[in-house]
Amino acid sequence: GTLVELLESRLRDIPDFPSPGVVFKDVTPLLADGEAFGAVVADMADRRRGTIDLVVGIEARGFIFGAALAQQLGIGFVPVRKAGKLPGRTRGVSYDLEYGSATIEIHEDSFIGGERVLVVDDVLATGGTAEAACRLLEDGGAEVVAFEAPIELEFLHGRDRLQGRDVHTTLVVR
Ligand code: IMP
Repeated sequence: GTLVELLESRLRDIPDFPSPGVVFKDVTPLLADGEAFGAVVADMADRRRGTIDLVVGIEARGFIFGAALAQQLGIGFVPVRKAGKLPGRTRGVSYDLEYGSATIEIHEDSFIGGERVLVVDDVLATGGTAEAACRLLEDGGAEVVAFEAPIELEFLHGRDRLQGRDVHTTLVVR
């Protein structure tokens, strides 16, 4: 079978999580299957090998895919976290949610400038988080080469918020 079929078979829908009416795509069955997890990471690595200097992962599941990818490529990993979690001096950016706003942060000394960075998360939904992360990195002197997530919820149009950037997803949920 194809990678898309493998991914699809290892994803679980959780209705009404985290709130009524939302169907949450749960990647824990995929992570628990060594072959499927490995295939997703190997696919990203094949696409990006030699083109990036650092992987940036978005809390929390972006850490899992991003760290595995960084190790596969033999390069470093930098976390982008929710406000208040990183211990060192940080820079942050706030962005709008459906109700209210959120802030994500990065250690201010994560980049010397000019690094080619790949941003990784598990799911591209509205794109608000990914767009904010890209802004945070670009303001910090990094070059965001691309964004990757194994899963995209197309009906939330996250791609529209990442225009002009190289966005790659594998399983597109329509
Ligand atoms: P955004 O709407 O694209 O900003 O997504 C917000 C955050 O929630 C991202 O880190 C996504 O990975 C996560 N997220 C949104 N929907 C889902 C889902 O159905 N499954 C897993 N993660 C999700």
